[in-house]
Amino acid sequence: IVIFKYFPNAFLTNSGNELVSKVLTSTAEFGDTVTGTVLIIDAMSNRRIHLRAPLDTTAYEVDMAATQAEGLALIRKEAPDVVIIADDLPGLHLRKFCKLLRTKPQTQLTTIVVAVQRENQSARVSALIDGAHDVIDTFADSADLKARLRKFMRIKNRAAAVHSQTPHDHGLAEPITGFDRRANVTLVTKLAADHGSSLLCDLPVEPGLNISHQTPEDVRRTPNEETDVFVLFESKTEDETRDTLAILKSHAASCDSRVLFVTDVTGRGSSPLDLGADDQVPSDITPDELALRITRLTRLKRASETARKSASELGEMAYRDALTGLNNRRALDDYLARTDRVRVEHPGRIAVLIADIDHFKAINDNHGHSAGDEILAQIAKTMQSRLRAGDFIARYGGEEFLIVLPDVSAKDAGAVANRLRDAVARNAIALEDHTHVRATVSIGVAVAAKSDQKTMHALRHAADRALYDAKRNGRNRIELAGACTPHGRAICRAETGS
Ligand code: GH3
Ligand code: MG
Ligand code: MG
Repeated sequence: IVIFKYFPNAFLTNSGNELVSKVLTSTAEFGDTVTGTVLIIDAMSNRRIHLRAPLDTTAYEVDMAATQAEGLALIRKEAPDVVIIADDLPGLHLRKFCKLLRTKPQTQLTTIVVAVQRENQSARVSALIDGAHDVIDTFADSADLKARLRKFMRIKNRAAAVHSQTPHDHGLAEPITGFDRRANVTLVTKLAADHGSSLLCDLPVEPGLNISHQTPEDVRRTPNEETDVFVLFESKTEDETRDTLAILKSHAASCDSRVLFVTDVTGRGSSPLDLGADDQVPSDITPDELALRITRLTRLKRASETARKSASELGEMAYRDALTGLNNRRALDDYLARTDRVRVEHPGRIAVLIADIDHFKAINDNHGHSAGDEILAQIAKTMQSRLRAGDFIARYGGEEFLIVLPDVSAKDAGAVANRLRDAVARNAIALEDHTHVRATVSIGVAVAAKSDQKTMHALRHAADRALYDAKRNGRNRIELAGACTPHGRAICRAETGS
């Protein structure tokens, strides 16, 4: 944050004056300390110079090349962040050029921008189809060019930080393909009959767009949650569109959607691209190009949804045991630590059960290790299906399970343990060779009363000792920790039937 204090009558140094005037006159200078490398490839020197000139006041390193060969040599040497290439460069086959950059590891994240003459609308569309990330005018507006460069650097830096080697994860160039679901586009205009909707009426049907309409007021209050791409139209008389953009980008219902900003207005503060718009186009854009850009934004949104989903699945997998699907040791440790913390503030009754399969080594020896695996998984399933929603079960060791029952009495915990034991003992498990195996478990139970200060570690230890007793006392039975009271023994004998 930079705070300027301005004294109109005071003496200011030259550099101070310069800085203040820069801030007051041109907010477009904002962000020009962003760094990165840009390569401009164009045979026409006046056009190269036109694109380069506004970048002189920025921190970008800019290289220039007049031919494709010269450009490719610089690309190999420097691996620039952004390449701006003229579409009429002699000998250029754009599709091959894009593919070449995408397939080389060092230029996978390089953004390819094609400079096209303003009036050549069909060249703009074919450049996007051929794999360019963006298209600009050969004589691009300098503020717009700089805002676009900042956006590319942002995307590239994020992509580089997010580990992935796959450029499409981050929305960089890809051949345009369809989607599995139609793209939901929300058009934000005052009236459905506005300029925007007439433009969108002409959209080619082929990209499969579902177009709906919201007024700016509506969208600021409750943005349509299903939207893949919001299209915002700014006009000289409509001065709240950038506020709408800011709201869309921060509203919970729309922050994951993409925003395409259509405007001809310049000099209204920061560029929409700096304010969070994912793309910006002038209002005389052709329907074909608009459709392509919407399609691309939709694909980006879907790709980041997929990436997020697989990240959360990965996170989930880190806490699951692969064989049984139960919580694993890590999940167990987290759960026990969390339970200890909660019990300090909210003391309550709790029971820990440790179940261990009886003579499992012999089962493995008799039926083979993979049958052993199947039996282990089946026993896990049998026990899990007999627990209540608030109970917790984890695979504790090789053939051991730890179960936590919140808010139970010793009597109830013993009853649950016995139910589990009984369910396992009754279940004949079918093996691949069509034989059936009955396995049994022994269970140690430890219970803390509400007033009990026992930690989960202490309870686990007590349950372990009780399990040892259950094994020693004959297996296929339960034993309560510290249950040498007549009551405890009574539970064990009565309910195991032993
Ligand atoms: P006890 O009744 O005293 O518990 O006897 P046990 O044979 O079950 O106990 P022991 O600790 O001697 O053997 C446990 C066996 O469990 C040995 C090990 O190979 C087997 N085991 C542990 N994890 C797995 C697994 O993931 N798959 C299979 N198939 N076997 C496992
Ligand atoms: Mg065992
Ligand atoms: Mg064991």
